[in-house]
Amino acid sequence: MFFEVQALPEKPAGIWYNSAMKKVISFDLDGTLVDARYGDMVWNHGIPDEYAKAYGMTFDDALKLIRAQYESVGDGDILWYEIEHWLKRFSLEIEANELLDRYASYIRLMPDAAEVLRELYGRYTLVIASNAARIFVEKELAHTGVAGLFTHIVSATTDYGMIKKEEGFFRRLCADIGVTSGEMVHVGDHPVFDHDVPSELGIESYHINGHDADVEERRTISGLKDLLEVL
Ligand SMILES: [Mg+2]
Repeated sequence: MFFEVQALPEKPAGIWYNSAMKKVISFDLDGTLVDARYGDMVWNHGIPDEYAKAYGMTFDDALKLIRAQYESVGDGDILWYEIEHWLKRFSLEIEANELLDRYASYIRLMPDAAEVLRELYGRYTLVIASNAARIFVEKELAHTGVAGLFTHIVSATTDYGMIKKEEGFFRRLCADIGVTSGEMVHVGDHPVFDHDVPSELGIESYHINGHDADVEERRTISGLKDLLEVL
């Protein structure tokens, strides 16, 4: 098992290692607690499949076209996360809810997620801070049965009209929970949204990266279970 703890420059030494003051663990959802396969199926299978049927083209052609459209917007834009926007943009008649239900069998907790959450529950206030639209968040939690472990479940885009790329998101999250940034730990699989941005605010952040944990200039863990070692 490998994990790396790096103090960032320009921050007072010591505060990073004082887990005694930590009260809240904030988790990203997709790719962190829930397997990213589900979102991938909805966005890169369900929508192109509907598009191919509606416009009489092959799935592969539809996928290429749709991915180019996604990329033209990018994950730094709130529209990226709004499935209603995309269904409307592509003039598809299917309801978002129906599309999300179709792939519900792909909703799966990440390895060790249930065990790690149960271990941390009771010692910390647990929250979810996801960029995904609330409709995704609720569907995923309903199928994994862990919703009851969290005191706050926030969709950045639906609930705050923000993306985790803004420090303002994490500032508001801390305020809503009633803690300082120094009392929060955040963990997630996006290097910028889940590590760099919250770190800037003084939140002890861990990037989950199963592939390159040893080459990153970030506080990195290779999986959820490593959290139990670093906290
Ligand atoms: Mg993620």
